[in-house]
Order: sequence, then C-alpha cells, then structure tokens
Amino acid sequence: MSANCTEIFGSMVFNDAIMKERLPKAAYKALKGHIRENTSLTLDVAHVVANAMKDWAIERGATHYTHWFQPMTGITAEKHDSFIAPAPDGKVIMEFSGKELIKGEPDASSFPSGGLRATFEARGYTAWDPTSYAFVKEGILCIPTVFYSYGGQVLDKKTPLLRSQEAINRHALRILRLFGDKATRRVFTTIGPEQEYFLLDRTLYEQRKDLVYCGRTLFGAKPPKGQEMEDHYFGSVKSRVAAYMKDLDEELWKLGIYAKTQHNEVAPSQHELAPIFSMTNTACDHNQLTMEIMKKVALRHNLVCLLHEKPFAGVNGSGKHNNWSMGTDQGANLLEPGRDPENDKQFLTFLFAVIKAVDLYQDLLRLSVATAANDHRLGANEAPPAIISVFLGDELTGIMDSIRQGGDYEKIEAREMDGGVMVLPHFLRDTTDRNRTSPFAFTGNKFEFRMLGSSLSIAGPNFIMNTIVAEVLDEFATELEKSDNFERALDALLKKTAEKHERIVFNGNNYAEEWVTEARKRGLLNLKSTPEALPYFCDDKNIRLFGKHNILTEEEIRSRCEILLENYSKTIHIEALTMLEMLKKDILPAVTSYLNDLTIVVLNKTKLELPPESYAAEKTLVLKLSSLYAGLSARADLLNEAVLGAAERKEAHETAVYYKDKVLPAMREARAVADELEANVGEKYWPYPTYGKLLFSV
Ligand code: ADP
Ligand code: MG
Repeated sequence: MSANCTEIFGSMVFNDAIMKERLPKAAYKALKGHIRENTSLTLDVAHVVANAMKDWAIERGATHYTHWFQPMTGITAEKHDSFIAPAPDGKVIMEFSGKELIKGEPDASSFPSGGLRATFEARGYTAWDPTSYAFVKEGILCIPTVFYSYGGQVLDKKTPLLRSQEAINRHALRILRLFGDKATRRVFTTIGPEQEYFLLDRTLYEQRKDLVYCGRTLFGAKPPKGQEMEDHYFGSVKSRVAAYMKDLDEELWKLGIYAKTQHNEVAPSQHELAPIFSMTNTACDHNQLTMEIMKKVALRHNLVCLLHEKPFAGVNGSGKHNNWSMGTDQGANLLEPGRDPENDKQFLTFLFAVIKAVDLYQDLLRLSVATAANDHRLGANEAPPAIISVFLGDELTGIMDSIRQGGDYEKIEAREMDGGVMVLPHFLRDTTDRNRTSPFAFTGNKFEFRMLGSSLSIAGPNFIMNTIVAEVLDEFATELEKSDNFERALDALLKKTAEKHERIVFNGNNYAEEWVTEARKRGLLNLKSTPEALPYFCDDKNIRLFGKHNILTEEEIRSRCEILLENYSKTIHIEALTMLEMLKKDILPAVTSYLNDLTIVVLNKTKLELPPESYAAEKTLVLKLSSLYAGLSARADLLNEAVLGAAERKEAHETAVYYKDKVLPAMREARAVADELEANVGEKYWPYPTYGKLLFSV
C-alpha cells in the first residue's frame, strides 16, 4: 500500500478508532457493550454518539443524514434529511439527535412487502444496526439500519442475516465447548464475495434500449470474434479500464472496503473485483456499496458498468462467488484443515455439518440464487448447473470414505506434478481448487458457493447458509451432549453423516451431461428455473426451520416468496415490452429502409434494360429479407399476444410459470429471426451498435 492508500483507507467511516477518539470514554464503553451483548442502546448514549457522528460527518462535507437500508428490491434505499434546525435569530444550526440516529420512519408503502403491509398501515421503521459502521458517501452521513413494518414484520434483507449470525454463533459455540474450548466467546461467518462485471462504452450503451431498460441485450447477432481465443482472461488490462479500476479502488478504500484483487475475466470486456473477506454483516453492506460505486465511477470514465447476469447471449455471463467460512473471536477459522485433517475431529465435525446442511437443504440454496436473470446462466455450460453438489477434492473425499467404511485413511502421499515439482506433503490445498465447475466447492479453508448471480444481494444466500448450518450444528450438539462417551458418540455421528450424505459429494465435471443423469439417480434436485425453485421456500420443513431459529415467520416467508415471484414476472414483462418496442419502432423500419434501397436498385437496373443476371443477387436478397421481415413481424404479433395473456393470470406462481412457458419462448423466437436479419442488413441501416462494437470498443 502506498502512503496515500493507508491515508485514505476508511477515511469516510465512523469506525472503532474514530469512536474511541471522539466519544467520551463512558459512552464508548457503553456502545461497545451494547454491540457485544446485542442489546438495544439507551437514548442518552445514542445522543452522545449522534452528536459526535454529526460533527465528524460535517468535517467530511456532509450536510444530510440518511437511514441506509436494504429493502426487498435487492438494492439499498436512502432518504436524505439535512442536519439543519431553525435557530431563534433566523439562522440555522446543525442538529442530529439520538432519536434520529436510532430510529427512522420512512413511508414503507413503496417498497415490496408481498402483502405484509397493507397500505392503511404504510408506516415502516428503520432501526440503527450499530454492528455496521456509519459512513459518509457523497455528502450524506449513512447510518446502516434494518427495516420493518408497523406490525413488526421484517421488510428487509439484513434482519434475517443478522439473526442467522446469532443462530450460528449459539450452536457453533456448543460444539466448541464439547471439544473443550472454553476460550472462544463468539463464532461468526466470514464472506469474501468475488464480483464479476462488464464495462461498456457509455455512448454505445445509450444507443441500446435493451441495455438501458433491461440491463441486458435482447437482440444481437454473434460477432466474428467472441471469447474463443481465450485471450481476455487474466490478459493485460487496457489503460481505460486500468484508470477505472484505480479510481474505483480509491473510492472503495475511502469507505473501508478491502478491494484487493482485480483482473480480466473470460469474456471480452468482462472483469472481476475481489475484496479481502470480512464478517458477513460487513461483507454484505460492503458488497452493496461496491456494486453501487462500481456503477457510479464508471460514468465518470464515460463507461457503463453492467452487473446483469447475462448481458450478451453466447458470451459468458457474470456471477458472484460467495466464499464462506466460520471464524472465531480467537482468530481461528473453523474450516481450516491444518496438516492432519483426518485426525482433526473438530474440523471434520464442522465440515460434515456443512455437507449435511447442503444435502438436506439443496432446495433452499438453489432458490436463494433464483432470479429471472440468473436462469440464463445456471446450467448454460459456463456456470454451475442448477443441481447442488459439493466438491471436496481427493483428500477430504478419501477421509470421508474411510470414515464411512470404518477403515483407516490412507494418506495421499506427496505427488510429483506434471512439471516434476514436488507438491507439499501436507494438505494439498491447491488441488482442491482445480474444479471450477462445482456449484459449491471446498477451496482450502472455506466453501465457495458459485451459483450467485452478479447483481444479487449476498444477504439472501448467506442467511440461508447460516441457518441451515446452524440447524445441523444444533442437531449435532444435541446428540453429542446427550452422550456420556463423547469420543464414541462423535465417531458414530461422523460415520452416520458420511453414510447418509455422501450422495451430495461430487468431484467430477458438473457441466457434463452424464452428471445430470447421475444426479437424478442419486435423488438430487434439479430445479431448472426460478418458478420451479421458489415454491420450495414454503415447504413445511423450511417454514419449521426458519421459525425454530427465529429467522423468519411463516407469514414473512410467504410474502418473500411472493415478492420474488413477482420480481421474476415483472422482469420478463419489461423485457418483452422492450423487445416489442425495439421491433416495431426500430428493427422492422430499418429492414424496410434497406429493402427499399435494394428494390430501387433492382428497379433502376430494369429501367436501364440491363440483363436480369446483373440484378439477380439484389433480387434474391430482397426476397430473402422480405420473407424474414414477414416472419419477424408475425413473431412480434405472437409475442404481443403472449404478453397480453399474462394479464389474465392472477396468482403469483401461476403468472411466473406463464412468463416462463409462454413469454420467454416467444421472445426467443422473435430474437432468432431478428438476429438473422441483423447478419443480412447493411450496418448503416441497423439501428443498434453490434455485439462486436459493444464488446471490443473499450
Ligand atoms: P479465486 O478466484 O481463485 O476463487 P480469489 O483470491 O479471487 O480466488 O478469491 C478468494 C476470495 O475468498 C477472496 O475474496 C478471499 O478474501 C476470500 N476468502 C479467503 N479466506 C476466506 C475465509 N476464511 N472466509 C471467507 N472468505 C475467504
Ligand atoms: Mg472464486
């Protein structure tokens, strides 16, 4: 890090060091106590904190504050209030009270609630979450908050995440105590989300209605060059992109976000940013901020940052790898295998808990990443298939097998690699990372959940990860606590878990057709689309699970399911309407112009009494384009009918299924003809920049 970087890092964050420096000792101690014990703050402490926060923020150019929250839209929300208060002399003073810090009352009626919050009780509340630091962004003091309704129902993405942290802490501690660990006071989950994105030239972007309205292209013929040369991945970063990345890093560092790694991705114009991992709560806030700032900084460089999961057909889409582990306040990583994993029973207990959780709750993990956009990726030979399985690598699979069979584990000895280099004799960390096709891979000392779409909030998948692992840890602890012979009970538990859940482990190629057949034989779920996956949310076993751990009530789950289904339908609805507009207003008229010019050529040549061979080619093209035109026009009508038919569907799930089965295929049909036309119409007639231009011009 340069001196400059250490200076700017966290300069816009009201972090622990600042609190220590700026708060009176008693207030600082009280606040830390509240955070540690998870109790609510008293008003007098809040008042002192608010005042210090305001002064600090004003020094950093802030004039307003906002309760920053994460409603079910999946993006963050903020409503700005200025600090000004009237003073008796007609001037103003800058004020910010403890009450304003800890509680807000935004009108909740415009946020999705899935029927939870009737409009007559539109009031919603935001409450300060002091476990996430306040920060200044663009002259606004942002206070991270949770969001709930007048009736107390959860309306945001953060609350279940925070609650799931409590659940995992509670039950992981029970396991640690059984292993004789008395020192650890807290267990938390850690996340490192790797973020993929595309950068496009802003001027070209603005010429495409599909990108502007939908974030992805709805038409586009294949360019002569795509990603087949594999020359972009880790390729040298172009200077315009490098300038963007530098600017972005600085903005992120100011907000205390550990932006660490950046490189080009597989597709042209595609890149990745990975932060250093942090605690789940912070990682979630930081990833939301990262996505927002990525977009904003791009505009400064006359670029547009696309976070859509599948902006271009035939080109790799963007995902977000969710690296997940469990850490302790003593600095331990509970998924660290060490040198001797087969004899590290505590490591194996946590590892097996994750494996069992993933097997039992495949449905929840799958639906936690289900969106209309991500459906284009999963199973498309670039991202994992829709089938959940766990990659463990040879060594851990070997250990699991030997536990299942009750034999001794034969350690994999040091191996010569192809290049003749000796691999380290202890745990072969690198070999676990080779498989890039697995949806859920153990990568050294963490699991990497790779099914998330690039634009997804990581709150959803992680509250589910935390809850399902907490549930299994709870079962394990309950069983072990009952026994009077811990060692024997533990061996039996591990053996039973290996026997029952080995089916979820798969180290082969997840993209292969044979895996689909094999997975079916193993009884694994294959939920191909969002409307197929989402209903599992409301399964009895899942409602019981979330209720038991105090994460979400049945009513809240049903409302969430409804919101997600509606979101799916709305997304496709907007795409279909955009497509129709592009067809009718731009594409069909463009074809007409070209046809017209060609026809004039034919007519002129006829007038000159030239031999028919001299205009035969133009005539053939006129015929071909006319027939494609007629086909496209007919398909536009069919698409229009399909969209109108959706209005007759009433119930959310039925509507979503309709969009999947009727609207999406009609869109595909229309696109196929339009793309063929694009390949046959002169470039100056075509109303939109081509894939080639979009992908290769930055
Ligand atoms: P790759 O692209 O090979 O998956 P990267 O280095 O790009 O690897 O990303 C790995 C990510 O995993 C980083 O964000 C890193 O901080 C994160 N990570 C490392 N250790 C942990 C951990 N214990 N818990 C959560 N995330 C972790
Ligand atoms: Mg990765």
